[in-house]
Amino acid sequence: MNNNSKSGVMEDTLELIIDSKSENESFARVAVAAFCTRLDPTLEEITDIKTAVSEAVTNCIVHGYEGGKGKIYINVNITGNTAEVIVKDYGVGIENIEKAMEPLYTTKPEQERSGMGFSFMEAFMDELEVSSARNKGTTVIMRKKIRIRKDEIKEMTFEELRERFKGIKANLIQKNYGLVHSGMFTLEELNQEMDIALWKSY
Ligand code: ATP
Ligand code: MG
Repeated sequence: MNNNSKSGVMEDTLELIIDSKSENESFARVAVAAFCTRLDPTLEEITDIKTAVSEAVTNCIVHGYEGGKGKIYINVNITGNTAEVIVKDYGVGIENIEKAMEPLYTTKPEQERSGMGFSFMEAFMDELEVSSARNKGTTVIMRKKIRIRKDEIKEMTFEELRERFKGIKANLIQKNYGLVHSGMFTLEELNQEMDIALWKSY
């Protein structure tokens, strides 16, 4: 498979450049979500990603370029079962990132902004990193790990499981598969084992 690295871990990237216009926000949100479906997320996980992307892109339009012209750069990097979304603008930047990330803090209360964008990104994704420089722009990096579902695993054959988790040693899957099926292994433990195996295979 050409979208896998040498170690067999799934790797894939999407790059998207859009004009800073509110009508492009829904396109960006849907495009990122569609790209992430290869991780077989739940509807809830997809909704979380859409919400986070929507908040990040809206911030570029409203704050970064203040409604004016500019380009927004969106990257999605899939590695194993993690989706990393990067949203970048070359706008006005953020003076105090710590303050900006506080819930309910907004510099545009007159536009009926609630100051909850960063809080939503933080809540709906696993990781959030913000970097910014005055008049240079802002970069938001968000990561979300798509979890393995117990019911999904239970319905999969060993071959399907191996295909789904490429790069993880077959004997490890076989061991875990048997244990999950016999009810001796919890989903949490399986996820942990999978994480260790993925990490080791880098
Ligand atoms: P809401 O997202 O609830 O509509 P908000 O956009 O003000 O309100 P946040 O998304 O949490 O709230 O952002 C907080 C503040 O951080 C903003 O008010 C703005 O001052 C600053 N900010 C966020 N993103 C950017 C950006 N891309 N460029 C410049 N400033 C930003
Ligand atoms: Mg916002």
